Amino acid sequence: MATGINKQKIVSAIFSKGKKIPQGEVTTLPVMEQVIYSICREGTCAELADKAYKSLAEGFFDWNEVRVSSTREIEDCLHGMSRPIERATRIIQFLQELFETTYSFEMEFLHKKGVKQATKHLSRYQAANDYLGAWVTQRSLGGHAIPLDSPTLRITKRLGLVDKSQEETAEIRGSLEHLIPKAKGAEFTDAISQIAVEFCHDSNPRCPTCPLVSECQYGKARLKPVKKSPKAKPGAK
Ligand code: SF4
Repeated sequence: MATGINKQKIVSAIFSKGKKIPQGEVTTLPVMEQVIYSICREGTCAELADKAYKSLAEGFFDWNEVRVSSTREIEDCLHGMSRPIERATRIIQFLQELFETTYSFEMEFLHKKGVKQATKHLSRYQAANDYLGAWVTQRSLGGHAIPLDSPTLRITKRLGLVDKSQEETAEIRGSLEHLIPKAKGAEFTDAISQIAVEFCHDSNPRCPTCPLVSECQYGKARLKPVKKSPKAKPGAK
């Protein structure tokens, strides 16, 4: 694992070499919409999530129409994304639960609860998971949280920002939140997931063209030439 100073260098490289992702309207989405967006965003990059969210927000009359639509209809908006059935099911499930408990499609009341209580409230929804809570905390509730999906975990471990043996999400998030300033949390999340989608694939990562290769332990090890063992001389025993 990288030392503290090295980790800071890696973080600086992510900000200086990673692609700057325009924040667009995502930063201003209300809490409820941010929940839907997070379901689109987990495991992918901003570009794909933006398309899927736009398709949902503009392709239906309102959120109630999304709620009463079939999984298949929602899936059509998630074109090109992984696990579309699961995402579509969670979106409908979340809207249904919200509607049954509040008879509305808004969650601005969470701003009054304070970050800790608001995150706790969100976690009670069946469709919620750790990523969703951290995403909404980071983007809407004004808290410091780094959402961890599998691409973020993969790349932070390969870079050496997180110890390979660390498995607990809370522990990993704690280490990353300690390293990344709150004001840079969203930028970190966007930059890291863009690199994961473009270069740091699960199998066969594109290390030779990755902008972070000079900081990446895993990438450097992959690119090291394999030493050939000397050929045995003829007749030698
Ligand atoms: S160098 Fe390779 S392993 Fe390291 S972050 Fe880039 S793609 Fe991933």
